[in-house]
Amino acid sequence: MSAIVTLEETLSNKIAAGEVVERPASVVKELLENALDAGSTRIDIELQDGGLSRIHVLDNGTGIAPEEAELAFLRHATSKIKNEDDLHHIQTLGFRGEALPSIASVSKLTLETAQNQATGIHLRYQGGRLIARTKSKARQGTSVLVEELFFNTPARLKYMKTVNTELGNATDVVNRVAMARPDVSFRLIHNDRQVLFTNGNGDRRSVMYAIYGKQVAQNMLTASKTSQDFEISGFMAKPEMNRASRHYMSVFINGRYIKHFPLLKAIEKAYHTLLPIHRYPIAVIAITMNPALVDVNVHPSKWDVRISKEETLLLEVSEMIRERLQQETLIPEQTERE
Ligand code: ADP
Ligand code: MG
Repeated sequence: MSAIVTLEETLSNKIAAGEVVERPASVVKELLENALDAGSTRIDIELQDGGLSRIHVLDNGTGIAPEEAELAFLRHATSKIKNEDDLHHIQTLGFRGEALPSIASVSKLTLETAQNQATGIHLRYQGGRLIARTKSKARQGTSVLVEELFFNTPARLKYMKTVNTELGNATDVVNRVAMARPDVSFRLIHNDRQVLFTNGNGDRRSVMYAIYGKQVAQNMLTASKTSQDFEISGFMAKPEMNRASRHYMSVFINGRYIKHFPLLKAIEKAYHTLLPIHRYPIAVIAITMNPALVDVNVHPSKWDVRISKEETLLLEVSEMIRERLQQETLIPEQTERE
């Protein structure tokens, strides 16, 4: 056995990238999260070949100070938390300080960022190494261009699916984030063709229109429920408008899209007896709660969360939907026992 050594930073970033950067869709997710955390109101996403050859995310957020831009590519460097207490009250989508160094280590990445309309900075990385640093033109916001993802990790590159599959995954991320944030305008372009546009006027139904089409958007019921710990609001389709997969249910906690199976089951439970077997509802549920009650620090991808008082939340989500469906007299009220 060789002696124990500390790995150099570019190599340790590449290892971390294994978890954070699974495929083009994960890059899109991380870059969108950064753009949103920077307070952007307009985000343009441009992909080529499902994101495999090119992912470009352009925002009009706060930008990064030129002298700090290189710091953003150091692992565990973040402007979003400072101490342990902050970790227990996460208010932003990011906090791990891992995305930029990870993505840069497995691609050719160009960052351009400027603040307050002043001259900005242009940085170019290749496989995690800085290869160019120049001034950039004055504008507000940040542009991150990721080319040739996984060019230096052949095993991961081989694992990529077809352009259509990668595009499907990336589009799904943009769709969900756009539904989570109807107050932000998103434009997704793939190979010069527009896939999604939302105008950022705050109306979630118009975002659903852009994603699911007119029929679904117009026929969704709305409901909301406020309790001691949770504020829940949502759109839910009448049972006759159902789907063959769970893909059409989205749950957001404090503006973050999460993959949380028990919450999907809670939605399904409200439709119990109303849907044929192997058919699933269309629903978009947004939950607001005290950040201290939700732990995002479960996995580097941040899809998964732990919720305290989860049982109560599941019950409330189910109840809210069930009551709304009942109002539509889709479900007969339970007859009282003799
Ligand atoms: P994290 O988001 O967890 O802080 P990242 O590696 O994604 O870590 O980003 C590192 C830092 O770079 C962020 O904390 C933020 O200060 C800055 N940053 C990244 N992307 C943007 C952006 N689009 N606009 C403004 N600042 C950004
Ligand atoms: Mg981030």
